[in-house]
Formats: sequence, structure tokens, C-alpha cells
Amino acid sequence: MGLDLRQAPVLVVGAGIMGAGIAQVAAQAGHAVQLFDMRPGAAADAVDKLKTVFDGLVARGKLSAIEGKATFGRITSIAALDDARGVKLVVEAIVEKLEAKRSLFQQLEALLEDDAVFATNTSSISVTAIANGLRYPGRLVGMHFFNPVPLMKLVEVVSGLQTDSSVAAAIFELGKAWSKVPVHAKSTPGFIVNRIARPYYAETLALLLEQAAAPQVLDACLKAAGFRMGPCELMDLIGHDTNFAVTNSVYDANFFDKRFVPSLLQAEMVAGGLLGRKSGRGFYAYPQGAPALPTAVHKVPAAAHGVTVHGDGPLADLLAAAAGQLAAQGCGPARDRESTWTGLCIDGACLVLTDGRTARQTASDMRVANVTVFDWPVAQPVPAGAALAYAVAPGATEAWHTQSAAWLAALGFHPLQLADAPGLVVARTLAMLINEGADAVLQGVCSPDAADAAMKLGVNYPAGPFEWLTRWGAPAVIGVLESLDGAYRGERYRVSPWLRAARPIVGGSA
Ligand code: NAD
Repeated sequence: MGLDLRQAPVLVVGAGIMGAGIAQVAAQAGHAVQLFDMRPGAAADAVDKLKTVFDGLVARGKLSAIEGKATFGRITSIAALDDARGVKLVVEAIVEKLEAKRSLFQQLEALLEDDAVFATNTSSISVTAIANGLRYPGRLVGMHFFNPVPLMKLVEVVSGLQTDSSVAAAIFELGKAWSKVPVHAKSTPGFIVNRIARPYYAETLALLLEQAAAPQVLDACLKAAGFRMGPCELMDLIGHDTNFAVTNSVYDANFFDKRFVPSLLQAEMVAGGLLGRKSGRGFYAYPQGAPALPTAVHKVPAAAHGVTVHGDGPLADLLAAAAGQLAAQGCGPARDRESTWTGLCIDGACLVLTDGRTARQTASDMRVANVTVFDWPVAQPVPAGAALAYAVAPGATEAWHTQSAAWLAALGFHPLQLADAPGLVVARTLAMLINEGADAVLQGVCSPDAADAAMKLGVNYPAGPFEWLTRWGAPAVIGVLESLDGAYRGERYRVSPWLRAARPIVGGSA
């Protein structure tokens, strides 16, 4: 048995929102916890507040009165670091500044035994950099909790270049003992969650910048894909200043890699004080929030002479079932399972699942004027009336504009028209989330399973990037990314070499 911290007396430094949560979780796992804050009285105040928290847990039946009293009794505040006694694990949750964290750990190294483990809750600073200057840098590891600590299951266990593997392993085991789901990560900008999540915001900001759709339309489409909050309402909640700062720090730390470039639109909002909920105005005005979606009354599709369902797999089956039920047809649609595309051909006009090409490009390649591309309806079974983005080729007739929306509505979607942007919104965003996950794995930041767990537990994604990849298939994801790359040029949409290597093993079907 290696290093075991499950009985270790814990010192939590920093009694703010994170430190108080960490102290609570450690005490609930049975540790004796000492809490220190530089601001006089802050640690004692935090302990008082924890009393209310435990009283609440007892009142709600989550803890017995005896457990509540015993758990609270394990937490003490200390007024000076020198008062710390018997500490075997420090969890630091102070201000997010490299110099402050470095000097704290150097001070602790002088005060504590040589075998005490140092964990930092930093969300953005290099763990390797924090350890620089320690006599025993191998003892320092990242233990990145998510807010609110007692509720969020994920802990990123972040190893710097010098972190001892036994220390990372002991923190991983400790995470489990604290009823969390730990994942190993390498110290790189944004670790796992804050790195892989960037495109969720960035692709919507890019679409807004080129006026592809209104914020509430993009939010609705991504929520229909299973995300709990759309990117616009989420940025409004986080605060544009905070979200922009994280994006900037990941961009800077990656030596201005264009993949992480911040948005001019968000810079302008921050400069103007449109910070979201906290300032009363972001993408939306508060307290009202997002305005209602455009409601259009769609016609029943006109009777068609011939309808063919193209493609194979669950989405083609779904389209076939829905098209077969359309009374206007009177008979079931034909199937072309060998087709190179997925969608419907209706009397020569084409309703095509996006493969990343614009509707204009698709129409030109197919040599058909009446083409509509629609987004990936990723949540399956597709909930009735799920928002779905679509774009119509510029050369299409007015009648096909009306008909393609009518068909999408009759197939059970709530069609929302976007400008003719490559990859629309869900396909584009998911392809970029998968690509970022693939690059993280390529660079040894985490395993695919760790990335999936991190995104589901750290930011409540409906699925992890590698789960989407398995369903969708590497060829389709690469196709969307190559279309984006072709449309925009530059580094942003370059395909991760990991994805190209995964191509033969991850086949998938929409
Ligand atoms: P906070 O401002 O609520 O609390 C920080 C506390 O640390 C304050 O009480 C402050 O007085 C104290 N402090 C500052 N410098 C100190 C020092 N040198 N010695 C002792 N105490 C000191 O901040 P927070 O939101 O709890 O964040 C703390 C850390 O956790 C940061 O590194 C942050 O990046 C990270 N983090 C925050 C979140 C979040 O959502 N808030 C999530 C994950 C990680």
C-alpha cells in the first residue's frame, strides 16, 4: 500500500467559497480539519457558516444530529499558520495568483513535516509553476474542485512535471473517499474541463459575430441537443468578464493558438459593462432573460410524388418512420441505404443532414437548386418539437423555403433558420468539442474516459466528447471540421491528428 491520506489531518488555506466547501467535504469524510484565512476573522466566520450548513443537513435528514455535531466538531479555525498541528495534507484555495500560492507553499514547507502533501485548488495556474521553488516539488499536486464543492462530483487531480506519481495516486484515492469522481489530468492550460469547454462558447460567439442567428435561437438548438443551458444564457450566468478572462488565459497560455482566440463580440460586451445577470444585461436583459423564440406556423407539406430516405442508421430510420406517417404521402417512402448522404429527397429537392458544408456548397456539389441542410438532432429519441437549425441554399425557390421548413416541422422538429453557416450550430459545436478532447488525449492531458467523465460531471454535459465520437464516427467529425477549415481557413478548425488516427476504429453512424 502506498501513500494513504484517508485519515490525514487536513489544513485548508483560504476560507472563501471553495475553501469552506472543501473543509465541509473533508470533515464529512471523517478528517480533522483546520481552516486558515489571511483575512482576520474570515476562517472563524466560515466555520460559523458551516454550523448553519450542518444544521440544515440535520434538519433535512441528510445527517443524524449526532453525525452533524461530530462532523462540525472536526472543523476548527486557526488564526495563524503556525497554529496548525499534525497536518498531513494541505488543500490551498486562496486567491488565484501564482506568487501568492508559491509563497504560501514555501512558507508551509518551512512549518510542516517533510511528508505532508500539498494540494492546490487552482483553476488556471500551472501546477508545475506553483511547485517551482519548493524543496520537495514532488509533494505538490492539483486538486481541482468545482463549485459548489459539496454538490459537484468532479475532482481533477492535476500532475505537474515534478509531481510524484504516488502523491497523485493518493489524492485520486482520497477523492474517491470524499465521494467524488476523480480524474487524472496533466498540468496544461485549462486542465480538462476548462480547455475542452472552450468551443461551447467560442462557436456560438463566432456564429453571433457573423450574424448567423439570434442568441436565443442558438441557445434553443444546443439545449435541444441535451445541454442544460445554452451558451449565451450560460455566459450571462458565469459573467462575461469571468468567461472572457478564462478564454484569454487559455489563449495566452497556448502561445496565442488561433484555436482559442477570444471573441471580439465578448471583448466589446466586457468593455461596455454588459456582464450578464450580475450587471442586468448581457445577451439578454434581466430579470426577463431570453426573449421567446420566433414562432412560425408551418404549413402541412404539399403532397409529393416521390420521397426517398437517404442513408442508414438511427437518424435515417427516424426520418423514414416520420415520413411514412405523413398523411400527405399516402404511402411509405423509398429507402436508399447506400446513399452518400442522410436525409430526404422530396420530388427532387433535398433535405440533407449537415456534413459541415454550407447549403450553398451542398447544392452546388449535388447539382440541385432546392437544398436545405439541417443540424444533427443529437438527442435520441428526439423529443417532440425539438429545436433544430437549418439553412436553405441561396438558389432555392421560395416554395422550397416554405416546404423545407414544413417538412422539418412535420418530421417533429421546431425548425429554426440560420444564415448559411458551415456545420450549423450543434454539429459545429460538437465537432469542435470532440476535436479539443482528441487533442487533449493526443497530448497526454487525460484519457478519453477521463474527458467524458470530466465534461459530464464538471459542466453537466449530456454526454462526453468521446461518447459523441463513438456515435457520430470519426469520418463524419473530420468531415465537419474540414468543411469549417475550408470555409474559414487558418488554424482554428485544424483536425487533431488523434482523430485522423482514430478514423478506422471509430466508425459510428448518426
Ligand atoms: P474567494 O475569494 O471566495 O476566497 C479566497 C480566500 O482566500 C479569501 O477568503 C481570501 O481572504 C483568502 N486568501 C487570499 N490570499 C491568501 C493567503 N495568501 N493566505 C491565506 N488566505 C488567503 O475565492 P474562491 O472562489 O474560493 O477561489 C479560491 C481558489 O479556488 C482560487 O484559486 C480559484 O481559482 C479556485 N477555484 C475557484 C472556483 C470557483 O468557482 N470560485 C472553482 C474552482 C477553483
